[in-house]
Amino acid sequence: MGLRFFNTLSRSVQEFVQLDPAGKEVGMYCCGPTVYDFAHIGNWRTFVFADLVRRYLELKGYQVRHVMNITDVEDKIIRRVRETNSTLAEFTGQYEAAFLEDLKTLNCLEPHHKPRATEHIGEIISLIEKLLARGIAYKAADGSVYFSIEKYRGCGCTYGQLLKLNFEEMRPGERVKSDEYAKESVADFALWKARVPEDGDVFWSSPWGEGRPGWHIECSAMSMKILGESFDLHLGGEDLIFPHHEDEIAQSEGATGQPFVKYWLHGAFLLVEGRKMSKSLGNYFTLRDLLAKGFTGREIRYLLLTAHYRETFNFTMDGLQGARTALARIDECLGKLRELAAGRPEAAADEAILQVFTTALDDDLNIAAAWGGLFDWVRELNRRLAGNALPAATAAAALAAWERIDSVLGIGTVAEAKAPAELQALLEARQAARQAKDFKRADAIRDELKAKGWIIEDTPKGPKLKKA
Ligand code: AMP
Ligand code: ZN
Repeated sequence: MGLRFFNTLSRSVQEFVQLDPAGKEVGMYCCGPTVYDFAHIGNWRTFVFADLVRRYLELKGYQVRHVMNITDVEDKIIRRVRETNSTLAEFTGQYEAAFLEDLKTLNCLEPHHKPRATEHIGEIISLIEKLLARGIAYKAADGSVYFSIEKYRGCGCTYGQLLKLNFEEMRPGERVKSDEYAKESVADFALWKARVPEDGDVFWSSPWGEGRPGWHIECSAMSMKILGESFDLHLGGEDLIFPHHEDEIAQSEGATGQPFVKYWLHGAFLLVEGRKMSKSLGNYFTLRDLLAKGFTGREIRYLLLTAHYRETFNFTMDGLQGARTALARIDECLGKLRELAAGRPEAAADEAILQVFTTALDDDLNIAAAWGGLFDWVRELNRRLAGNALPAATAAAALAAWERIDSVLGIGTVAEAKAPAELQALLEARQAARQAKDFKRADAIRDELKAKGWIIEDTPKGPKLKKA
């Protein structure tokens, strides 16, 4: 059996069959950050999940075109621009830069395209014009343009593809201006919002007068511009299913008459110490808050990757401590394998562990099962290492397998891992020899380390060991 994902559209686990029958390219869009603040670890759970999907598809041999938009105009942003007395570009620029820095800290691969909403106003206007031409959108008296759910359904299209909707309870025609994603109304939604005094300098001209785009239309316009009218995968947190993603489908399919996205994948929420993350409870963490507490991006990434993406994940400080211990176990084993395999040519990867890993991830990214298999493997390797019963060739094959596995997990390349404790002790002995001006001994230790595959690198914090 091949790769399978739970598709929110069909509410079932389905085999992944890419749209492009000829090539290997897979189009993948993940709704990106709204850049009005630092991203919190709940947001990061979703982006690390998207990174996992992309990396795993790449391991499977697909060529992924990964798009993540930057929402740089939206109600909350405009409010903050006003409060901070800055320009839109100044204000969003700082949070976009911080976001991209955090993305690196968490070792997420950079998306191939990072379109900004404010740079796609032309595409957004064209899309709204198409909807108006098809009679699915209408202009209101104040110059705003709304999407009509009734007209859309009248064309034989389905509103409520991701979620079963009770139309009796809907209030079509209500014109809700706020598109903050906490919005619960399922009424007609804004495609274009007419300029109001509170918008300040944030507006663009359009055939309907000055204003700005609604949030949902941004994603339809940018995803279709880069990936085409129909593409393979669309991801986001579960809170985006409705109304954001439902509205993206309606706008896109309403304009093109084509199916928009084949597989919709949604990540479950992150809770903190069992409760919803909120500023008032004081359990709200940005990535930077955790770095300031002394944790590393690698530890946080590991923790975010321990649970299945469709299960609510409970973030705890104990969990983060546990991540540190788990990584130390992996590092220690890898360090010993490296020592044993030092100087050997590249080996073929151990297929058995790769099989365990891919079988688990093929099954709707069952990462918990993948970790289970990996820790069994580490335990067995440690047992054989302790009994001096592991051939060097086996160590080399294990390392080659790890390199492939880590191309998906991204918790640390072979070269980044810490040297084992014995080698650290040798490094310290060399320092002591140098201080005692025993350069002969210092050089001998350096050569010994080199023979074991490690070189000494001088850093501002003193000498460090680096994989040769
Ligand atoms: P935003 O910057 O608010 O547009 O959110 C960016 C992404 O983070 C979206 O895909 C949201 O669904 C996701 N997200 C927001 N809060 C959480 C949370 N507590 N757990 C997981 N994902 C979240
Ligand atoms: Zn979106």
